[in-house]
Amino acid sequence: MIPLKRHVNGEMPFHATGVGKISDDLEIFTKQQHEGNKIAADWWKASKWRAFAERLLEESHGKCGYCEEKLGLKTPETNRASVDHIRPKSKKEYQHLAYSYFNFVIACKKCNSSKSNSFEILGREIEQPIVKIKTSGKKSHVKAKGFSIDPKKLWAGWSSPLRIFDSSYQKMSAEEKREQPKLINPYFDQPNKFFGYKIVQLDKGNVVEIYSLSKDDKSIMRADYTIKTLQLNRLELAQSRFKEYKQFQRVFTRVESAKKSTFWKKKEKRRLKKKYLSADQRFSGMFRFFGDQKEALHKKGRTT
Ligand SMILES: [Zn+2]
Repeated sequence: MIPLKRHVNGEMPFHATGVGKISDDLEIFTKQQHEGNKIAADWWKASKWRAFAERLLEESHGKCGYCEEKLGLKTPETNRASVDHIRPKSKKEYQHLAYSYFNFVIACKKCNSSKSNSFEILGREIEQPIVKIKTSGKKSHVKAKGFSIDPKKLWAGWSSPLRIFDSSYQKMSAEEKREQPKLINPYFDQPNKFFGYKIVQLDKGNVVEIYSLSKDDKSIMRADYTIKTLQLNRLELAQSRFKEYKQFQRVFTRVESAKKSTFWKKKEKRRLKKKYLSADQRFSGMFRFFGDQKEALHKKGRTT
């Protein structure tokens, strides 16, 4: 896992913010009221989050935001990008975030299905929007925090009571601080402070496993929870990591033993290092960790 940044500037996708978003949210609230908070899984309109897949995939550098496997929008099923709801829409306290852009991350099918509806928190529960929808005759009234909203007039623009539907980046950041989820979130946490990588010899050959790097109990628990919930040490993933590492070693050795000038080798090694540490490299979190370890060892060697 590597840190990811939301593209909060520039044009937002349609229905990500503003009245389009509010209109979508109202549909959810209305449904919640009718179904007594138990919205069936097949009611949700997947097109609402799939519409953001391309932008989200750009944000996560063409990879799964959790395991860093390379993904595409039209690639075969196993490597196809899926949109994960960080706060699961199957939990009633997070249903209002089902269409919220800032609740999404691109994930591979394996991470997404492993995580399923797990989302444990250490802090206070998320603030629920207080919305009441009353229908009298043909007229329906939305009551939010004491204000009355006419859904038909929503498209006319903004008014202050509508802020309760706020699902902006700032709002989500505040919710993250308040809830303190156990799951490491690549958009809010610094994954490199939580995860280390190590080569492990198994009967089936070598693999690279992820482990908790943290020093304090809370961080260790969060890292362990994340590894377990997303199954970040599943065999085929750990094997793929080792294969990628071996591939790097092969290329690096080829450069070192090439019959070329020292200048060329230096330049080529620099290029390789840049490539493997870059965000769009498969498993760059692992290469960054191994790189840091190597530098730490060098520094230690120099001072003694
Ligand atoms: Zn994944």
